[in-house]
Amino acid sequence: MRKGRVLVVAALLLVPSSASGAEGAPHGVPILVYHVVSAPPGSAHYPDLYVRAADFAAQMDWLAEHGYHVVTLKHVYDSWKKRARLPARPIVISFDDGYLSQYTRALPVLRAHHWPGVLNMEVNFLQPVGGLRPWRVRRLIEAGWELDAHTLTHPDLTTLDDAELWRQVDGSRVALRREFHVPVDFFCYPAGRYDARVIRAVELAGFLGATTMNYGLARPSGLFTLDRVRINGSDGVGGFASKLRSLSTNPSPY
Ligand SMILES: [Zn+2]
Repeated sequence: MRKGRVLVVAALLLVPSSASGAEGAPHGVPILVYHVVSAPPGSAHYPDLYVRAADFAAQMDWLAEHGYHVVTLKHVYDSWKKRARLPARPIVISFDDGYLSQYTRALPVLRAHHWPGVLNMEVNFLQPVGGLRPWRVRRLIEAGWELDAHTLTHPDLTTLDDAELWRQVDGSRVALRREFHVPVDFFCYPAGRYDARVIRAVELAGFLGATTMNYGLARPSGLFTLDRVRINGSDGVGGFASKLRSLSTNPSPY
């Protein structure tokens, strides 16, 4: 549908952003960000992307011991927009890109707690070695995980022309919905890169909200620029606990 695509791309320039002004309770919710859940290889270019499986398990135990309850992003959204009830100390655990260890290492730990994860899936990572295959994504969905979109190939969206921006944003949602038959309601900006034009594309593709790499609590006033809390390999349990404690006692000022 070339004509339809041209119209949609043109509309990117015209539709005003509605990213602000969301209603609902003002409570901020932490959305944690993980990448690879295993020890970094010696050759790793970005060792902080790796959180050891034992550290991950200990961090999840810390959450349980401190009264946190893990929920999906959709559950948080429904609490903001539809007054759905959230448990005490709600928290979202998101996993970016779609690494094999998110299935082999993170799933068993979360399943033991009866907690769902949120998978921000780069469509390209469904195929290669080290990524998730579709059957594993289906198992995650069966275990209660939420599937969200993280583009086709992880480009810096702010550098793309309108047609390629739309292909990456809408195309990833279409591909994941077609493959897995789930809503794919939320979007995650690759490397946290976005601008007003990118946000409009995400809204126009029908997403309900989008997550960034900006540090802080997610709030309904910024549904398309939701803050997250990145967990690094160097955090261990001590750094993890201090991040959550400082956010709950000293939340971001908006
Ligand atoms: Zn990513």
